[in-house]
Amino acid sequence: MAQALHIVIVGGGSAGWMSAAAFARALHPGRYRITLIESEEIGTVGVGEATLPHIKTFNDQLGIDEAQFMRETRATFKLGIEFRNWGEPGDRYIHPFGVFGAPWGGVDFQHHWIRARQLGQQIASFQEYSYAIAACRRNAFEFPHRARKSIRATYAYAYHFDAGLYSDFLRRWAISRGVRRIEGQVRDISLDESGAIESLLLQSGARIEGDLFVDCTGFRSLLLGSKLGVQWEDWSQWLPCDRAWAVPCQRAGEFTPYTRSTAQTGGWIWRIPLQHRTGNGYVFSTRFIGEEQARDTLLGQLDGAALAEPRLLRFKPGRRIRAWARNCVAIGLSSGFLEPLESTSIFLIQAAVSDLLRLMPSPERGRVVDPRLADEFNRLSDIQYARVRDFLILHYFANRRHGEALWDYVRSMPIPDTLVHKISLFEGRGHVPYYKDGLFSRDSWLAVLFGQGLMPHAYDRLADNLSADQVGQLLRELRQAIASNVTTIPSHAEFISRYCADLQSERAVMS
Ligand code: FAD
Repeated sequence: MAQALHIVIVGGGSAGWMSAAAFARALHPGRYRITLIESEEIGTVGVGEATLPHIKTFNDQLGIDEAQFMRETRATFKLGIEFRNWGEPGDRYIHPFGVFGAPWGGVDFQHHWIRARQLGQQIASFQEYSYAIAACRRNAFEFPHRARKSIRATYAYAYHFDAGLYSDFLRRWAISRGVRRIEGQVRDISLDESGAIESLLLQSGARIEGDLFVDCTGFRSLLLGSKLGVQWEDWSQWLPCDRAWAVPCQRAGEFTPYTRSTAQTGGWIWRIPLQHRTGNGYVFSTRFIGEEQARDTLLGQLDGAALAEPRLLRFKPGRRIRAWARNCVAIGLSSGFLEPLESTSIFLIQAAVSDLLRLMPSPERGRVVDPRLADEFNRLSDIQYARVRDFLILHYFANRRHGEALWDYVRSMPIPDTLVHKISLFEGRGHVPYYKDGLFSRDSWLAVLFGQGLMPHAYDRLADNLSADQVGQLLRELRQAIASNVTTIPSHAEFISRYCADLQSERAVMS
């Protein structure tokens, strides 16, 4: 039998430990060996508390017990994101992890809604036709029902968690399944005659050889960027924010099952409720506001007393032009970062990990990588980044905050052609992107397009197959179904205390 392929992961943030855990779960231990090098001295970015529903699939695939995970990472549930003041001051809308309405007569819901509106029917705002939004407004949570036809099955959920505790959790999980952890700092990187990475020299003097290197060194991008020289593509012309102040505060105010994002003069502020505290941050552009002013604004908007000094994080929106070069694959911040809006980074890690698993080199070839694998990985990564980029830009571009420098700039900047196309299809016909895999779903686009105040001029003509009366009746029934079901759901706080407490009592019985 051929020697096992040695995978060396450098970096122990979320990217490093998510990669290590997924590899340990999926790869045959006789054919793949996994080592992770991390440096306590350097540390991690330590933010990244809001996620998308895909994270549940990731955890489920590892076989992680959800209640235990939630207890250990102090997690809460997330049904979506509330955007305040993004269209214009005073506006509010929610981007839910759920659907709007249903495809009546095989035609997507938004077309029926636009038609009813154009017919002058007395209908509610688009937001009123989502069950997940109704649950958010009540600060309520329950698991989606299994009966697929139920209105209570029309959403998914994600988590808010303490990112440091999540890495700790995965570290224990991965080590107990055979991942070797080395504490140390990489000081030098040696290449072989073909230009592939051969070994890493640690500060301690130890030399670590490997076949496939996974660069999870965060913004440093030590292997892919610094050593292999893969260039950075700057996207700051579309995403001008380049700093964030982050600060936790005492838990107070509403215990929301959603993240809140409030637009500000120089960017936006996030609010993320965890079980034991609330995470807050001001993401801003130094072209439009000074660091000190941003810090003071953030501290002035906390629900409770700050629990630490605010921490300043610097970043550049963009990505490496290739995430896989030679025998090195960058995952996480080392491959790119757009900005925290819509909480996409952990999803991008997850997508890269699952693509890499599917394209994993075979042990027989050692360090020599089949270029077709790398090309395919890079193609998939390009698609993911470009789609997320367009979605994020939409939030900024479609604003009506006139007379504020940042918002005037993003409203008038040239946007990517791919986004121009998406907006014009929506305005012309009510159509939105529909991807089989990856981000973002049709309903996510609808939430933000309508939420930011865009309105189509026309709708899909197939919607005319239903009579106006039928549509009016269906819309009324849908709202009634939402209203009568949502009142019976427990509050988010109640649900969490019961779910996590159940685990404690189960354990007490078992021990
Ligand atoms: P890091 O956490 O920076 O880890 C890098 C690792 O590399 C560390 O272990 C470090 O010790 C190690 N390392 C570096 N150099 C060396 C060396 N020479 N030798 C050995 N080890 C080394 N994502 C979301 O999904 N949701 C969010 O809500 C969210 N919010 C964010 C807010 C902000 C302001 C920022 C900046 C990011 C946010 N992110 C969010 C992104 C998220 O934080 C990251 O995607 C995630 O933490 C993964 O980071 P990482 O593992 O790639 O890098």
